[in-house]
Amino acid sequence: MNFLITILGSGAALPIGARRCSAQVLNIGGFKLLLDCAESTQDRIRYNHLKLQSIGTIIISHLHGDHFFGLPGLLSTMHLCGRTEPVFIAAPKGAREVIETTFALTGNHVGFPLEWHEMDFGEGCQRVFENRKCTVDAFPIDHTVPTYGFRISEKASCVMRPAFTNDTQHDAPATKTYVYCCDTAYSESLLPYLSGADLLCLECTFANELANLAEERKHLTAGQAGRLARMAGVRQLMLSHISARYREPDLLLQQAMQEFENTFVAADNMRIELKKDEASVINLPTQKN
Ligand SMILES: [Zn+2]
Ligand SMILES: [Zn+2]
Repeated sequence: MNFLITILGSGAALPIGARRCSAQVLNIGGFKLLLDCAESTQDRIRYNHLKLQSIGTIIISHLHGDHFFGLPGLLSTMHLCGRTEPVFIAAPKGAREVIETTFALTGNHVGFPLEWHEMDFGEGCQRVFENRKCTVDAFPIDHTVPTYGFRISEKASCVMRPAFTNDTQHDAPATKTYVYCCDTAYSESLLPYLSGADLLCLECTFANELANLAEERKHLTAGQAGRLARMAGVRQLMLSHISARYREPDLLLQQAMQEFENTFVAADNMRIELKKDEASVINLPTQKN
C-alpha cells in the first residue's frame, strides 16, 4: 500500500521565506489525513494538487497558531465549495469551542457535519482514529500548552502479503509506521512512543547553540532531535518546524547527524514515499513558492 507524505509547511512560528508553518497531508492507500493546519494550509493543499474535498480527517497537535489557525479558513472554504460529507477532527480540548465561537461570532457556518474527538489526557496513549487503512494513536508531549504526538500505522489487512517462499511459509505483511512529534521539550519519556518508527518527524526549532532558548520555550535543538531518534531506534529521522532564523538548514542537519546519521530536513512541498526496509524516496518539486 502506498504511504505518501506531502509537507505543506515545515517552519516554526512565522510563515515567512520558503517555509510556511506546520501542516502535512498523509495519503495511506488513497485515504487522506491532514496533520496540523497552519494558516497557509489550504493554499498549499491546492498548490500540491491534493483536492481539498478529498480530505475528511484532520488531526491537530496543539492550539498554537502555527499549527491551528488555518482550520476555520479551511472549513469555510470546504463549505463554500459545496461540501456535504462530514469532517472528522481530533484536537486538544478547546478546539471545538474556538471553531464554533469563530463561526458564531463572524456569521459564518459550515453546511456539513463536524465530528469531534477532543483529546484531554495527560499520560499514556489513546487511539483517536481508526479506519480500514490505518490507526492513529495519540500520546501527550511536553510543550507550553496541551500537545499531542501521533503514531500512524498502516493496517496489516490492507498490505499485500509477499509471495510464498519455497517452503510455503510466508512472512507477515510489512506495515509501515510514521510518528509525528511537533512541538516538544526534550524528554526521554517519549521514547516508547517513537520506538521503531519507519520515519520519525521531530521538531527541530533551534541549533545546539540555542539550547537555553529551546529549554525555555519547550522546543528541541537539532542535537536533541538526533539523540531521541537514535535512542528510539527509528529507521529514519525527518527534521521539521525549522526556525525562520535558519535560512539554510545545513547546520541543523549536521548537528542532528552527529547523533543519528539517517536524517534529512523537511522542505515545503516535499513528497516522501514511506517504504519498508529502504530509504524513503524524496521528490523535491523544482518550483517553490
Ligand atoms: Zn509550533
Ligand atoms: Zn507550539
